[in-house]
Amino acid sequence: MPEKNGAGPEKNGAEKVRVRFAPSPTGSLHLGSARTALFNHIFARHNGGVFVLRIEDTDLSRSTEDSAAGIVDGLAWLGLDWDEGPVYQSRRMDHYRAAVEDLLGRGRAYRCVCTPEELKQRREEAKKDGRPPGYDGRCRDRKDVPSGAPAAVRFRTETEGETRFEDLVKGPQTKRNAEIDDFVIQRTDGTPIFYLSVTVDDAEMAITHVIRGDDHIPNTFKQILLLQAMDSPLPHFAHLPLIHGLDKGRLSKRHGATSIQSYREQGYLPAAMNNYLARLGWSAGDQEVFTREELVEKFRLGDVGKSPAIFNPEKLLWLNAHHLREMPVAEMAALVRPFLEATGVPRIGSPEGRDEKWLERAVDAHKERSRTLVEMAESLAPYLADEITYEPAAERMLTEEITGPLAEAAARISGMTDTRPPAMEPVLREIAKQYGMKLGQVAQPIRAALVGKKVSPGIFDVIALMGREKTLSRIRRALEHVRAAGKTKSE
Ligand code: GLU
Repeated sequence: MPEKNGAGPEKNGAEKVRVRFAPSPTGSLHLGSARTALFNHIFARHNGGVFVLRIEDTDLSRSTEDSAAGIVDGLAWLGLDWDEGPVYQSRRMDHYRAAVEDLLGRGRAYRCVCTPEELKQRREEAKKDGRPPGYDGRCRDRKDVPSGAPAAVRFRTETEGETRFEDLVKGPQTKRNAEIDDFVIQRTDGTPIFYLSVTVDDAEMAITHVIRGDDHIPNTFKQILLLQAMDSPLPHFAHLPLIHGLDKGRLSKRHGATSIQSYREQGYLPAAMNNYLARLGWSAGDQEVFTREELVEKFRLGDVGKSPAIFNPEKLLWLNAHHLREMPVAEMAALVRPFLEATGVPRIGSPEGRDEKWLERAVDAHKERSRTLVEMAESLAPYLADEITYEPAAERMLTEEITGPLAEAAARISGMTDTRPPAMEPVLREIAKQYGMKLGQVAQPIRAALVGKKVSPGIFDVIALMGREKTLSRIRRALEHVRAAGKTKSE
């Protein structure tokens, strides 16, 4: 399929692709930012380019080190490795000041001594008179600004013509320059405004493609004006569609978890997150499941859609289950381990716990039924826990009617040394026959007795994983439980 408009100049080898992910560390890494990072990452890898991580922490009142560390950690967890950085903008203040000085020296910027109160008052007057509320240009040509006075710096925008760019996702974008006011590029305290720091860094870091959320489209016009004033080449711009919830509203906390960290804690896999995030706004035919390699191979900016992407947690869960099933057992065992330990059961490898081989067998037996690592850990915990608790559905199966078959199973097992499937199967079949039941009618209460759940892998696998001793003690425990709960006829 021919590429639409996302080929970029890299295809003819003229320019090495350089992209950046530039989060502001004012919160956790959320789904939208992670998707931006992913698209930058796979675009760089697809084109043999460079992926730069830049932390935009010039707003010292809102940025925190914890947030920056959380974002870096989240990216590392997703496996979105970067080639340069993290570069912290707060350590590059001298670059921004130098750029401002240069623009001032060349008359492309000017110092502005209007106070916030004056600006507010004039904005309100403009609104009342039906004039545009942007800066009115009071200091633009003023000759009486004292050189030492505290002043902000404003960019001298063009008043004529228009600024355009061809967005690789959204198509042609145009704005009349008259609609862009003389915006501030440096605050009175000497700190740079976002437009300026982004532009200086994109220029100095030789960024070829700016890939980010489409809420930045209005900023792009200002950045282009600045780049032109700095005589820097323009990068390509690709603005990604917003992410909406199922109700078509902008994705927010009311749609459930939105931070990468919370999905990590809920037992989602990086492979599934990347797969799902990639599909938020991008597609390659009707393929749903992608490995990382396939994402890198198939990703084209031209295949990113224009309209908002809909976040569907059910689909993410489905993909997670899929990636979990496809994963090598040893890898899955290693991943589930911390989740298992968090349930409070004896540690794998400890004297009172089970060993790693056991864990791999258990993971293999449960992978079809677990959609997340948390679900997997919850299914495995009963094998390791000292005490069993019965889910309500399991509790309902432990009735007086099944005490006969359960007691019989306990008696038979206590005389056996081998409780692996070939030995157990004929035994349970005989018990079922003896009580005029189907095998399933005997298996269900045994399952409830062993793992406290209604659903588990096949009963013979469960018994084998549980082991003879624990199988026996759990069946005895269930019998006691039925008695104690007063479910027997005699009480
Ligand atoms: N720091 C900006 C943000 O977090 C992104 C800037 C950019 O990508 O150009 O929204």
